[in-house]
Parts: sequence; structure tokens; C-alpha cells
Amino acid sequence: MRDKCGILGVYSYKKSVNVSNQIYYGLYALQHRGQESAGISTYNNEKISTFRGMGLVCDVFNKNNMECIEGNIGIGHVRYSTTGKSKIENSQPFSTEFDSGTIAIAHNGDIINSSEIKNKLEKLGYKFESTTDSEIICHLLKEEYSKTQEMADAIRNITKTLLGSYSIVILINNNLFAVRDPHGIKPLSIGKKEDLTLVASETVAFDVVGAEYLRDVEPGEIIHINKQLKSYKLPIADKPRKAHCIFEYIYFARPDSILEGIPVYDVRLNIGRALSREFPADADVVMPIPDSAITAAIGYSRESGLGYGEGLIKNRYVGRTFIMPTQEERESSVKLKMNPIKTELKDKSIILVDDSIVRGTTSKSLVKLLREAGVKEIHLRVGCPPIISPCYYGIAMATKKELIASDKEIEEIRNILDVDSLGYLSLKSLVDSIGIENNNLCMGCLTGEYPTHIPDNITKYETYRC
Ligand code: SF4
Repeated sequence: MRDKCGILGVYSYKKSVNVSNQIYYGLYALQHRGQESAGISTYNNEKISTFRGMGLVCDVFNKNNMECIEGNIGIGHVRYSTTGKSKIENSQPFSTEFDSGTIAIAHNGDIINSSEIKNKLEKLGYKFESTTDSEIICHLLKEEYSKTQEMADAIRNITKTLLGSYSIVILINNNLFAVRDPHGIKPLSIGKKEDLTLVASETVAFDVVGAEYLRDVEPGEIIHINKQLKSYKLPIADKPRKAHCIFEYIYFARPDSILEGIPVYDVRLNIGRALSREFPADADVVMPIPDSAITAAIGYSRESGLGYGEGLIKNRYVGRTFIMPTQEERESSVKLKMNPIKTELKDKSIILVDDSIVRGTTSKSLVKLLREAGVKEIHLRVGCPPIISPCYYGIAMATKKELIASDKEIEEIRNILDVDSLGYLSLKSLVDSIGIENNNLCMGCLTGEYPTHIPDNITKYETYRC
């Protein structure tokens, strides 16, 4: 399961300041949200310049190309894409020329009705060079701006058309805007440091440049980032409910981030504690599936009084492995990423903590690996309820058919995974662990109930990923 993008915008009211370094370091901090491409656009008192490339932030930028993107206002983006769509044309920021200058945008999310909008724009003569919905947003913005000549109005107007999730930073000549969809599905926070104002997908991007977290961009809020931080509201007739993605807390966000004022680390400790209360087991030690389940495993250990240990070591230098054709090769790919510590595992009964189970294939391979290392009993504890439905808001998850829990009971899943006991955290405990009311969270993949309209023919849509 992968998130699709991390975005960042930095504004300095001092024209002599160059913000490209802050964007570069901020993107480093957001690298977990996308590893396939990175890009920065800046405005240097004359024009917008963009540099984008394939790979990690450290692969894309160097001293030479950083000199081409100097300026006191800028935006940045890191991207993850589905297989086959990882190409330079789809990297961001995406920019387009218009009569009065240049628009560059960086987007996190997924526009469900993007095919429909693209068809309309093509009829108006727009040409597309990428398969991203970010390009669609960019052209839509250009079209609206040509009518209104006011960027805030143009943004307001396009949001009437967009269906789905979006947090966007927009650089239009020397103006920086940030906008979050009416449900606030994707995160977006505001930070401040002296003359700098920042907006980013996660607060870790502020920490790395020494900026302070001020607040989150409200769902349905457009912010014109200048010295005053001018805020506008989207024109929404019936106030939609907030629907922050619950998986940001469970898995996607870094544990050292703060989302909606809530430290993600605390949420994951609470998840582990709640798992221990709901599913205790007679075992020797609590172990995480690294890295994302480490904090929950610590929480389980603290609540249960059982010792915390490491049974699997993750090779952090393995990127994405292409899809292996045979079962044997797929198992090798798991072995490439995780290696068991036999001396810690032999003849032990372990509580194995994971954040979530999607298809179940990785869990199954890891259990096999642990059994081969001599583990006596495995009690698998999962930090969220079963995932029963796909995500339409920009998370590369799986189709409904591929989700192990979409058509199976827990006992059946336990059998398939070959564990001695299996416990999924209840939805109530998960929501309590976060501390946000459940009607302010998106839990679509856990309940099948989504905060936006999902068209019936959604499977026919080509999905343009951010
Ligand atoms: S459907 Fe699931 S993964 Fe997608 S936004 Fe909602 S909670 Fe997040």
C-alpha cells in the first residue's frame, strides 16, 4: 500500500531570499510519500523555473541544477506512481504557460471524475502530455483564470468541478496558493519561520528547516500565502463532513508528524495499547513488522508488560522490486527486504504486530520466514480492522477482489496466513486511539462507506494518478 505524493510550498516576503534549499530539505523529509520522482518550481522575480527528475530527491537534485531554481517563492513535489506510469512526463510540479505568465502546481490526491473533465478540456482544444490528474487541474485552472482574472475565484470555480481528494499548492507568477478539498481527505499543514511561510503534506517538512507548525489548512480552505496569509472558503452549499484519511494515522504519515494537531506517534502507541487490551495472548515477546508497526508494538509491549524485541530486520536500501512471476521468486523478494534473527526467534511464542493487512501475501511470506527460523507460536495483531474495500482517493491499494478480507472471515484468514491466533483492532478502538470523532474521518476502505459520491461505473474510469 503506497501513498501517492508529498507536496510543499515555501514563501518568503524578502525578495533576496532563496527558498529552493528549504524546499529541497523539506522534500527529503517527505520522501516516504513518494520515491519515484521529485521536482521543484520557483519564482525569481521574473519567471517560474522548474526542475524535475526521476528517482529519490538525492538522485534528482545536485549543486548545478539547484542553481537553476533559485527564488523567494516555490513549490515542490515527491511522487509515487503505479507500475507503467512512472515516467518523467508524469512528474511534478506540472506547469503551463498562459497569457499573463506561468502556472505551476503540485498535487496530492486523486480526482475521481478526471476522465470526464479531461474530455471537456480536450473539446476546448487543450492538449495533454501526461496521464496525471494534476495536468487536468492545471489546465482547468488556466481555463477558469482566463475568465475570472482572479486566482482565488478561479480556484473556487474549479473546485465545483473536482470530485475526489486533493491538497494542492499553486504557484502563479509571484503568488503562492494552497487549497485542500472540502473533506480534507489528504493532509496539509501550515508552518512559519521568521520571514518564511510554509505549507506541507506533513509537519516533518517544517522540522527539518527549523520552522514551527502553526495549524492545518482547513478542509475547503484556499490560502493565499503572502505576509498576511489571506484565507478564502470554498463555495460549498451543504457543508460536507470532514473526512481525514484514517490510514495517514495508521501507516502513511511519519510517526514524528503531527496531523490535525495530533501526534502520529501517540496514536500508534494507543493503537498498540488497545490491541493488547482487546487481544491479549500468552507469549514470550512482542515484535513488530518493521518499520511501520514499531510504535504500535512498543504500545502493545508497554500495556501488556511483555518484553519488546526485534525478530525481523528490514533492509532499508531495497527500493521497489518488480513483480516477480513465480511464487518462489516472490518469496525471494520478501527475503531481500526482511531477514529473521534466528537466535531471538527460536522456540519463542511471539506477538507479531503489523499495521494492516492488504492482500495478505507479504504477511504469509513473513510468517513462513519466521516459522523457518524456529518460532513456536505466532499471534498476529493488526492495528486496524480488516480492509474490505478499495481506496478511490489516491492510495495504491488493491482491487476489492485482491483484498484478503473482502470476502473472508477472520478464521479463514488466520488459516491462510498460518498463524496461531489473529486479532484485528476494532473500529471503535482505532477511532478512540486517534481522538477524532468517527464522522470526521474517512474510513472508506474499512467500512465501504465513502465521504464523496463514487460513480457506479468507476471501474471504467482510467484513473489519473497524481
Ligand atoms: S479509503 Fe481508506 S486509504 Fe483511502 S482515503 Fe479513505 S481511509 Fe484513506
